[in-house]
Amino acid sequence: MYGPSTIAARRIFKRAIIQGGLEAVSLMSKAGIMPGARGMGAIFTLHHVRPATTKEFDPTAHLTITPEFLDASITKLKADGHIPVALEDLPEFLANPNQAGPAMVFTLDDGYRDNDMHARPVFEKHGVPYTVFISGGFVDRTHSIWWETAEQLINQVDEFTFDYGRGDVSLPTRTLVEKYAAFDRLHKTFTCAEQESIASELDAKARAAGICPTGIVDREVMDENELRQLATRPLARLGAHTIGHLNLAHLTSEQMRSEIIRSSERVAEITGEMPRTLAYPYGDRCAAGPREYQAAEELGFKLAVTTNPGVLHRKDLRRQFALHRISLNGYYQKRRYVGALASGIPFALI
Ligand SMILES: [Zn+2]
Repeated sequence: MYGPSTIAARRIFKRAIIQGGLEAVSLMSKAGIMPGARGMGAIFTLHHVRPATTKEFDPTAHLTITPEFLDASITKLKADGHIPVALEDLPEFLANPNQAGPAMVFTLDDGYRDNDMHARPVFEKHGVPYTVFISGGFVDRTHSIWWETAEQLINQVDEFTFDYGRGDVSLPTRTLVEKYAAFDRLHKTFTCAEQESIASELDAKARAAGICPTGIVDREVMDENELRQLATRPLARLGAHTIGHLNLAHLTSEQMRSEIIRSSERVAEITGEMPRTLAYPYGDRCAAGPREYQAAEELGFKLAVTTNPGVLHRKDLRRQFALHRISLNGYYQKRRYVGALASGIPFALI
């Protein structure tokens, strides 16, 4: 059992290690000693894109980058020879041996309203295509976003009581360190788990504290009309991201397929055509595996993306339903890190 300050120290330590890796690779690249590891490019994952805030308790800061950082990243990638490619055109790109440079592919998960407000103008300025993955339950305000609910709830209360699996546990959440510890414990509970019952317990606790979980979704996520507008933009594509944003690997096969099929149909109602791309919610190895990859293929997608980190290679043509992505992470918003991330090397270092 670790105390709140140990958990906080681990958070800081992990960030320092990754930052160190990025600095090292950025220096190696500057010195011209970077091995040719960038492969055929990278698919980048973004979530929120919005101006920097000065929130004290910000447990999901890694999910937010600023429009200025996005702008600087694209400028840097272009200068390094990366070519903008739409996600759904990636298989043709990878199959062509005569490409002038590696690809840069942009994806944004969850359909946040700031994507249209702050990211779209940057993509349009640079002529860069992008795919927004939307969850039907967020679009229709029938499902909450647990990490947004948890942030607001834990920020507000001085004590957080939750059943993490073995009965109610009360944690003090007065100080910032205690708040981060409670959030991290909840995060751990949601990771690699059947999430529906945990999410409804969290929603009930939030409501009891006067917070409306679907009200948060309404504030943060684009609704059907906004998505319809966005889909008419020439560089924008919408992709499927299920209905309930649940860990698919922990659902029955029928539930998992239904989550995917219904989300495709929901996208088609908005855009007029079935989406060709799918992003598995959470997307790591305990949220999507061979069963989900096979379902994506059988359900008619052209490709699907995970959040397993890595750059693109020609061999990805043989694993089109388990493509790797690289997160543009809010903790590392420095222009020089983007080239390092796109090189794929930091993943070997951490
Ligand atoms: Zn997501």
